[in-house]
Amino acid sequence: MAVLTGDEYRESLKAFSPEVYMRGERVDKVWEHPLLRQTVNHMAIGCDLAADPANRGTFSVRSPLVDEDVSRIGHHIQTSLEDLTIKAKLTREVSGRRICAQCMSNMLSVTWAMIYDIDQAHGTDYFPRYREFIKTLQRKGHGIAWGMMDPKGDRSLPPSKQRRPTDLRITERRPDGIVVRGAKLHTTYGAAAHEVVAVPCRALGEDDKDFAVSFAVPIDTKGVKLIARPSPGPSRETDMESPLSSQSSQFIGVECLTIFDDVFVPEERVFMCGEWDQTVKLPFYFAGLHRQSKCACSAGHTDLLIGVAALLADVNGLGTGPSHIRDKITDMMMAATTAYGCAMGAAQEGTAHPSGVYLPDPAIANAGLNHIRSVLGTHLGHIHDIAGGLIVTMPTEADWKNPELRKHMEEALAGSDKYTVEERLRVMHLAQELAASRLTGTLLGFTINAAGSPVTNRIVVRNQYDLEEKIEIAKEISGIA
Ligand SMILES: Cc1cc2nc3c(=O)[nH]c(=O)nc-3n(C[C@H](O)[C@H](O)[C@H](O)COP(=O)(O)OP(=O)(O)OC[C@H]3O[C@@H](n4cnc5c(N)ncnc54)[C@H](O)[C@@H]3O)c2cc1C
Repeated sequence: MAVLTGDEYRESLKAFSPEVYMRGERVDKVWEHPLLRQTVNHMAIGCDLAADPANRGTFSVRSPLVDEDVSRIGHHIQTSLEDLTIKAKLTREVSGRRICAQCMSNMLSVTWAMIYDIDQAHGTDYFPRYREFIKTLQRKGHGIAWGMMDPKGDRSLPPSKQRRPTDLRITERRPDGIVVRGAKLHTTYGAAAHEVVAVPCRALGEDDKDFAVSFAVPIDTKGVKLIARPSPGPSRETDMESPLSSQSSQFIGVECLTIFDDVFVPEERVFMCGEWDQTVKLPFYFAGLHRQSKCACSAGHTDLLIGVAALLADVNGLGTGPSHIRDKITDMMMAATTAYGCAMGAAQEGTAHPSGVYLPDPAIANAGLNHIRSVLGTHLGHIHDIAGGLIVTMPTEADWKNPELRKHMEEALAGSDKYTVEERLRVMHLAQELAASRLTGTLLGFTINAAGSPVTNRIVVRNQYDLEEKIEIAKEISGIA
């Protein structure tokens, strides 16, 4: 059962009864709730890809931990250059079709490295517990929600100095475990996962030691509450509109505010308990490994925009002949290629962490992500430019379905003779969903904020760059050394 099929995944959700809320109401059955359908479908297709025997070695990989095939993007602990490059290739491929590749193996891998470090520094026994957790997760093929980002309250203050503490913290230490309280924000897929894994999100000081906590608990553990935000698709069934996120589509996750309301975590699931001096490690490992993936992910999104841009030009009768259209599409190709090159280059320049995890070069990964993030707005502008105003002014699908109105639309909205009016409108609807919808906002947020604020890309590059050496070279050549 290490790799679940989509149907097995749907079935597996029935064994859990998480406390999920959506639009103010308790969700009864996650697997069939109309506003969670896209997310469950999205997760299920990820499972089907890994379960397909044709994808053995790509979407699935033999895990040495359990000696079974597991989902590469979901569950595999990444320990080689090959792991990093195959993952990046698959991530670009999937993100170019479905926006998100569900790359939770990044989170499991960086946590693996951090917990190893804690044991080395403190002589604790968290790492064997974490390894057992990973083995159980891999054997069951269960999905995780990643609880890293704390609410952080007043950003100028550490968690222990907040007047109203918000962040996840230990409130009680018992012989058999700990009790935790607080919240994690932006928990993607939370409502459709089986387990939630919590880790600290920033470097902490000694006064903050109660906030230095990591653990994993089943998603329906008493006191875990998920306030879910519907994914950015329409709540009604659509045929032409929102082709990426309509009800029956298989794309886009749900986001949650995850509350830990005095949650008991048994000792065997506690992976960090007060070791504040080690909290600096996780954001650093995360900044390398997850951002290497994000370079490939954003390259995939750009690929999707490139295909749409070229098709828009074609349905409008222009193709990619006019130089201003060709230039815009070429700029997008350059950006996708640069970001993907950084994903691959960061992998190539990676190093093995003593725990076995293979970590990419953080500077290359961060430079690549910073670049592709900074041009998304321009690319969305290109889509509007190439589509023309119709992308935001066209009548709706309901108008098209009304025979009386359709007659007029057939006459008024023709473009290239190569395409029917319906085909042109379908392309416009895809362009609209990508560049002029609620999903556009989510895509921007996903690109700009997910994996950390853009300024942190610059901080990593600056810190990793050997400026002193370059100054010495300049001095030497100038003859002033
Ligand atoms: C779609 C999406 C999915 C996500 N999924 C997950 C997930 O599954 N799990 C998870 O844990 N997280 C997830 N995240 C969280 C993501 O990592 C954070 O949004 C990101 O790190 C920014 O943190 P923040 O939202 O708290 O914003 P803030 O940290 O408040 O940042 C806002 C601005 O303030 C600046 N700032 C903040 N603090 C300081 C300071 N002390 N000094 C100077 N400037 C400061 C930042 O640089 C930024 O410019 C997701 C986010 C998004 C948008």
